[in-house]
Amino acid sequence: MSSRVRVRFAPSPTGSLHVGGARTALFNWLFARSRGGVFVLRIEDTDAIRSTEESADSIIGDLSALGLNWDEGPGVGGPFAPYFQSQRLNRYRAVAEELLARGLAYRSFLSAEERDVIRASRERGESADPATRYEALSPEEERERVLRGDDHAIVFRVPPGTTKVQDLIRGEVVFQNETLGDFVLVKSDGRASYNFAAALDDFDMRITHVLRGEDHLSNTPKQILLHQALGRELPEFGHVPLIVGPDRSRLSKRHGATSVQNFLGAGILPAALANYLVLLGWSSPDGREIFSLEEMVGIFTLDRVGKTASSFDPAKLEWMNGQHLAALPVDRRGALVHELLAGLGITEGGAPVSLARATELAGLVGDRMKTVPQFLDYAGFFFAEANPSPEEMREANEKANGRADLAALADRLAKLEPFSAESIEAAFREHAESRGLKLRDLVAPARLALTGRRVGPGLFESCAALGRDRSVRRLAAPSPASAARE
Ligand code: GLU
Repeated sequence: MSSRVRVRFAPSPTGSLHVGGARTALFNWLFARSRGGVFVLRIEDTDAIRSTEESADSIIGDLSALGLNWDEGPGVGGPFAPYFQSQRLNRYRAVAEELLARGLAYRSFLSAEERDVIRASRERGESADPATRYEALSPEEERERVLRGDDHAIVFRVPPGTTKVQDLIRGEVVFQNETLGDFVLVKSDGRASYNFAAALDDFDMRITHVLRGEDHLSNTPKQILLHQALGRELPEFGHVPLIVGPDRSRLSKRHGATSVQNFLGAGILPAALANYLVLLGWSSPDGREIFSLEEMVGIFTLDRVGKTASSFDPAKLEWMNGQHLAALPVDRRGALVHELLAGLGITEGGAPVSLARATELAGLVGDRMKTVPQFLDYAGFFFAEANPSPEEMREANEKANGRADLAALADRLAKLEPFSAESIEAAFREHAESRGLKLRDLVAPARLALTGRRVGPGLFESCAALGRDRSVRRLAAPSPASAARE
């Protein structure tokens, strides 16, 4: 076998990319990149009914968004379109014929219903029952029925004995071939089965390491038997434990968001998602948790992939996203905020928000936002009236003399020169002193009047960024609607 590492990610395009699939892709990509190897993307679309072009496109888009680029495809030059199994049907049929000719496979003329019964009983673990075997006919009978044009599947004849999987993560796992039972290579509609197409592709694509989810472990002995039949040295196999929800059952929609799209759509940065996913099953040698993709490449090794299932924790993902967001230069954060506001059609004072303004406000919010959409939780008051309720205002005014103090502050700010965070703070301090109040006794109601919230970015900076007119107006009439009623 060539010494150059060649790995693949082989999604079935029957839905959007699940975080489990994304983690498999990431582990393969990291393994390839850390070993100077090749990462292949292969779309397993042999299931014509369940596969869709939209799913394939969205999976390809998600991998690209995560930065998991692949190195090859059937085309020339790059960037490459991935391999699609639907483009290789002739190859599968040709090799199935070869296996027939070598007596390693046979034709089965069972009806689709009969085959379903076999598959169902296999799934119940009843494969050793002779009643659940595909039936091999005598060569004469077989020839006759082929000539008659009868529909048939091509079935692999599983030899007796045992098949050992030397798993890179789980160690040795031994399967009794008898429990596997003969299995379909090419269905009667001419389509290759998953196990056949996958094993033959791994063979043709000279894959050296098959790294995938543990749910595929039961397929591995069949694929090993096929590799042996094809006469090539085996790839190495590594089965990664599944990702589970808080109840330790396999992560599914029942647990909430599970697709890459869900998370990217909710403002999780691709780099943060990749960072979170790598830690679901792998740990760094020094316990460090925050990495860029490039940093992961430098330290990723398979021997640090664990054997136990990891539990998906959205809160930790959000925390990690906050770490990645905070580490970005402010103009990058500004660009993300700008994109968010433009996407939502949010304006300030009737005008679109400029990139410079978005950057200024992103700087003001700082690392309070853990995701970009959370920007609006902290800075929404720039784009809408504050409108605190009169009850909230009364509560916040507990120490200060309600509207009188805010009105006095409004008067001070109306005349303030320059209108900056420093001078605003000085004006607040002077007023507090003149009234024998603590600064915070004024800050609480002023914050509520200016922002409609009890917490948020620095008040004096917020007030400066809000501008004199709006600040004065909001302080003078914190609850315009209710003020009219009072
Ligand atoms: N197409 C299979 C799936 O999406 C993956 C097969 C493999 O990695 O061998 O689950």
